[in-house]
Parts: sequence; structure tokens; C-alpha cells
Amino acid sequence: MKDQDVELAVLPWGATEAHNYHLPFSTDNILVQTIANESAAAAWEKGAKVLVLPAVPFGVNTGQLDIRLNININPSTQLAILNDVADVLNRHKIYKFLILNGHGGNDFRQIIRELGFRYPKMFICGCNWFQSFSNAEFFENSGGHADEMETSIMQFLVPELLLPLNEAGSGKGKKFRIKAFNENWAWAERKWTQVTTDTGIGDPSKATPEKGERCYNEIIRKTSSLMLELSLADVNNMYE
Ligand SMILES: [Zn+2]
Repeated sequence: MKDQDVELAVLPWGATEAHNYHLPFSTDNILVQTIANESAAAAWEKGAKVLVLPAVPFGVNTGQLDIRLNININPSTQLAILNDVADVLNRHKIYKFLILNGHGGNDFRQIIRELGFRYPKMFICGCNWFQSFSNAEFFENSGGHADEMETSIMQFLVPELLLPLNEAGSGKGKKFRIKAFNENWAWAERKWTQVTTDTGIGDPSKATPEKGERCYNEIIRKTSSLMLELSLADVNNMYE
């Protein structure tokens, strides 16, 4: 490591939270760290100088404070952590920084704006791996939490950590009565235990490891090419 050039640092960020009854609380951390590691390895093979940091295991879970052992950290804490990590990278002249997010409650965009204000030499960006593909291309049921997608990928990667699907709840999620919130132009946090009884949103019953493998490979293809492009990019010439 001491002689290795690093162009890009990647910080995976997950959450510790209930995932229906069949997936472990660490689901988001397992997925985001595995995706970060494997994407970086694939990008490295193609010439990317990329470093993967250990995943931050706690995310924003402010809508789930009444769920036992869901560990919430606030957005202001995330800013404090990211500020300290960016400060270290900046001191060591690693100016490209990607936050690889694996949890829907984490939203780093405004934090990235503020970090850019504090560290003008750095190019700081984020991505959500779970938005890097079209759900309908791989899965029958959509969802968003402990759904067919997440279950399938976990079945592929770490089958030993899952309970059998017949122990899972149906993952039925309620919608807001106010339509605008369902149209994605108005937003309010959902009170999770009022939306779902088993903490899942999305029916996991059609999940298979084969579906998970196909989707996982697509995710790695997308995130590794992002890492490669970032590593090779000239941050003073980003637009065409
Ligand atoms: Zn999850």
C-alpha cells in the first residue's frame, strides 16, 4: 500500500436494520461492502487506482426508531464522519472520493455539496447501487426493502445467513393517502411500522439465487465502470 498510487477512495455506507424476518440486520452492510470490493477489483484489473475503505455500518433510520435494534445515526453525524474522512484523504492528496450507498434512508447529496465547499480541491460524489439497474428486468415483484431483489442477491452471496422463505412475511407496504407523496414529487418520511407489519416492503417470495446472480453481475458491471471512469477522469475537464 505505501508505494501504491491512489486516485479514488470509495467509502461504502450501509445500515443496521430489520429486513423482514428472513434477512439479517446486516444485509445492507454485507451487500454494499461486497459490491464495493468486487467492483473495485474489476476496475483495478482495467487500470483503476482505487482504494476501498471499510463500510460505515450505521445509517439514517429516523423513521424506524420504534423497531428494536435498528441503529439510527443522524444526517448531521454523517456529515461529521464524512468531513473527517475527507480531511484525511485531502491531506494525503487523494482528491477523488466516491460514497457508495446501500441504504435508502441515506441521502448524501446535500452533504456532498457542503463537503465540496469545505474541500475545493476534491471531487466528491455518490451513487446508490440499488438504482443502477432496472428492477423489472430481473425481478417479478418490486419493493424497496427486503424485497425480491435484495433477497435474491443475498441468496446468491450468503445463503447461509438467510432463514427459509416460508418464514418471511409478505412484505406488504401501505401507500400514503395523500397522492402527491406517491408520485415522487412531494416527500415525507414514512413511519415504517405504520407502513409494514413485518418491516419488509416488497414480496420476497419469488426470490431465487439465479435471479440474484444475474442482477449482481449487472451491478458490478455498472459500479466498476463508474470507478474506472472516475479514476481516469481529469477533474478539471468533466464536461462535454
Ligand atoms: Zn436493505
